[in-house]
Amino acid sequence: MKVLIVFAHPEPRSLNGALLDVAVSELKRLGHDVQVSDLYAQGWKSEVGRGDFPSLGQSERLKPAAASKQAFEAGTLTSDVKAEIEKLLWADVLILQFPLWWFSMPAILKGWVDRVFAYGFAYGVGEHSDKRWGDRYGDGTLKGKRAMLVVTAGGWEEHYSDRGVNGPIDDLLFPINHGILYYPGYEVLPPFVVYRVDRLGDAGFEPVAEGLRQRMRGLATAEPIPFRRQNGGDYLIPSMQLRAGLERPGANGFALHLDQAGDAGREGKLHSLGSSPRHACGGR
Ligand code: FAD
Repeated sequence: MKVLIVFAHPEPRSLNGALLDVAVSELKRLGHDVQVSDLYAQGWKSEVGRGDFPSLGQSERLKPAAASKQAFEAGTLTSDVKAEIEKLLWADVLILQFPLWWFSMPAILKGWVDRVFAYGFAYGVGEHSDKRWGDRYGDGTLKGKRAMLVVTAGGWEEHYSDRGVNGPIDDLLFPINHGILYYPGYEVLPPFVVYRVDRLGDAGFEPVAEGLRQRMRGLATAEPIPFRRQNGGDYLIPSMQLRAGLERPGANGFALHLDQAGDAGREGKLHSLGSSPRHACGGR
């Protein structure tokens, strides 16, 4: 397989840097081809601006989505963005690795998404009509590929559990897993989350590294998060609301968009995938 890791940490000697080395070594040992986009090392520009659209006239009003569409179609996106798009098309698996900063990804990685997930490539794809609302959420350019998050967090696993004060980790990661990765078609694997990392110490490293190696070994076979397909019949058109009666009793919010029919093993837990040992590694 071909694996692209997009890495967002400013310090190669960090825990994240060490975990990146672990992932790359394990993937290579397994015979996979690996590319890493090390965003800080590349000096990635995170903000969208006029400079992203060289073909835009000086006096022309910048409309970011329209400019993205025009530049993608005309092949005039900047070379750094084009190179990342090529890597995404090359890779069978995309991994986004980052420390949790303010309950989300570091700005540099969000800026990578903003600039690389262009109109016509990652959104605005497919038929938009009164019968179909585009190819997204399970369909799209990146359909057939897999994606996964590798995240380190200072907070405890309990703090990110169903009743934890930070909110459930899968709810916090939903905008990334569902809104960014599933949207253009990726099958999204459960995240590898390491908690309480600031107190990990040297002794705590090896169990975490081994957990990550295991997840690298399972990239091709792991069961993806069972997000509902937009075009699979579960949603009304054009309101794009989930049809009544499809949800499990008591489900609401993000959990509505998980299709857990027939999965008795989850015992009705609709938004705590991250609290399962299958998905999470408590770095303690
Ligand atoms: P490092 O600081 O590099 O290392 C962490 C520990 O790992 C060290 O103590 C070190 O002893 C140990 N370690 C063991 N082996 C190694 C090795 N081989 N190499 C390096 N270190 C090793 N946390 C939350 O939970 N929620 C938030 O919303 C949140 N927001 C944040 C916002 C900001 C701006 C910042 C700076 C931090 C925030 N944090 C938050 C905490 C953050 O998630 C952690 O600090 C981060 O995940 C730690 O990852 P790191 O790679 O920087 O770790």
